Amino acid sequence: MKLTNFEIIYNEDRVNIPDKNRIRESLVKILGQANVSTREIDLLAYSKDASLIGNNWTIKGKIGGLPDFITWPETVNQISEILKLANGEKIPVIPYGEGSGVVGGAIPVRGGIIIDMKKFNKVLEINDKDLTVTVETGMNGMNLERYLNAKGYTCGHIPQSIYTSSVGGWIAHRAAGQFSTKYGKIEDIVIGMEVVLPQGDIIEFKPIVRSAVGPQLNKLFLGNEGSLGIVTKATLRIWPFPEKRALISYAFPTFEDSIEAIREILREQVYPAVIRIYDADETTRHFEMVEKAKDKVMVVFVCEGNARLVNLEEEITREKCEKHAGIDCGEHPVEHWFETRFRVTETSTVPPNKMIADTIEVAVSWTNVSKLYHAVVEAVQNIDGIFLITAHVSHFYPNGVGIYFSFAGVEMQDNTDFDLYKETWRVTIKTVLDSGGSIAHHHGIGINRSEWMDEEWGKSMNIMRAFKKIVDPNNILNPGKVYESIWTKGGEK
Ligand SMILES: Cc1cc2nc3c(=O)[nH]c(=O)nc-3n(C[C@H](O)[C@H](O)[C@H](O)COP(=O)(O)OP(=O)(O)OC[C@H]3O[C@@H](n4cnc5c(N)ncnc54)[C@H](O)[C@@H]3O)c2cc1C
Repeated sequence: MKLTNFEIIYNEDRVNIPDKNRIRESLVKILGQANVSTREIDLLAYSKDASLIGNNWTIKGKIGGLPDFITWPETVNQISEILKLANGEKIPVIPYGEGSGVVGGAIPVRGGIIIDMKKFNKVLEINDKDLTVTVETGMNGMNLERYLNAKGYTCGHIPQSIYTSSVGGWIAHRAAGQFSTKYGKIEDIVIGMEVVLPQGDIIEFKPIVRSAVGPQLNKLFLGNEGSLGIVTKATLRIWPFPEKRALISYAFPTFEDSIEAIREILREQVYPAVIRIYDADETTRHFEMVEKAKDKVMVVFVCEGNARLVNLEEEITREKCEKHAGIDCGEHPVEHWFETRFRVTETSTVPPNKMIADTIEVAVSWTNVSKLYHAVVEAVQNIDGIFLITAHVSHFYPNGVGIYFSFAGVEMQDNTDFDLYKETWRVTIKTVLDSGGSIAHHHGIGINRSEWMDEEWGKSMNIMRAFKKIVDPNNILNPGKVYESIWTKGGEK
């Protein structure tokens, strides 16, 4: 397949690089011949991430954005040199982890240089006393977790995409793992970072447990989505591998019963590592074989850690579930969840033609969760062409939850502009904002959500844009995302 066969959605926004050969030579000087590519097959490979719209574009012979150079640096100084070159020439640079992002964050919408972080793949140090691990951020998630497990630890960060995502991608999108209720999101896990700024400066946020040294600048680089700096090294919290795991499941008559039971569990300061509420439709989809859960709302729990504490957590968890009419469904549904938790066959087994599907995860307080859930389901199922809208709640805090909607539909007309897809996103996000929620819990902004950043942040968004300008005056780092909306391209409103 030749590149010329593909329509480039954001072609007119590409930054023109007049003398590509000269830039290529400079990159080769920094990285060596083997670590620079302009081969069509490589450019094509880095033109997308795992976003659903990106995949659908590919099916229809389109690509979001085409990079000009692919690079595989091996040292932080090389990254610094690439950025100095790019900044001087005003060429976009896009850090690339493993491309599992689902909001188009790594798509090179303005072209430019891809910095693939794969060669930053080493564990640098485990500190048993401080319970930390320091890693290079191109490290694959599962390789890190396996390494830790073999030494008797866990990081506790197990996203569904752990086999296909990197530590740097987690930090860039403020990721959340399946065990987040106990171990936290990645922003709770990262305690130190090394970052290369757009003009090539290398800065270090030393690993600290807590401090009182003015505003916490380091927090701005968590969730920066490759737009403020490239994170090259991170120190993460780790834990001794759990001594015991308790597998618990209950089926509840209603969504509200399950919500109340879990709210009360967390109020007792009991934090099962995994808690997942599946609404009635998702219960049918994932737990059809559990007779007691028929037409009900399934909840699975995993309590883990010190055996005595796990026993107590289990006792309190069961007490609260039974208080709210939960029916004990035993260990089997949780074992089933463990067996299937990394499978994402649903999107690959549906016929792609005219079919659209995606997931949208958002955050909301306990006060508003029920209102938001019902409002989104009702609003989305009223959209012409949508045949599925379901939800599960999978991240819990004493003050609220992260809730995850899945939708699917069929474009009614023969249009390639993804109107239905975009309409469903818009209806969902508007309903979330109207219901008091936040527009993203852990997948980030990328292309899909930038349209709503002003509504989400209000006046603070001006400060965020001003900060971006100070750190990256030439707007070279991952342009077209987070601070500006290009979402309407490739399908007008
Ligand atoms: C099937 C599936 C399941 C998923 N499950 C989860 C889940 O459970 N939890 C969750 O949080 N997410 C999940 N995701 C989303 C995705 O895996 C995460 O967003 C992940 O953190 C992206 O990591 P990556 O290395 O693939 O990043 P990429 O997709 O390569 O990049 C994502 C963004 O990070 C930037 N970036 C990458 N590396 C760096 C770096 N070193 N420094 C600065 N910026 C950088 C890129 O420029 C881009 O903007 C899932 C995705 C899929 C496809």
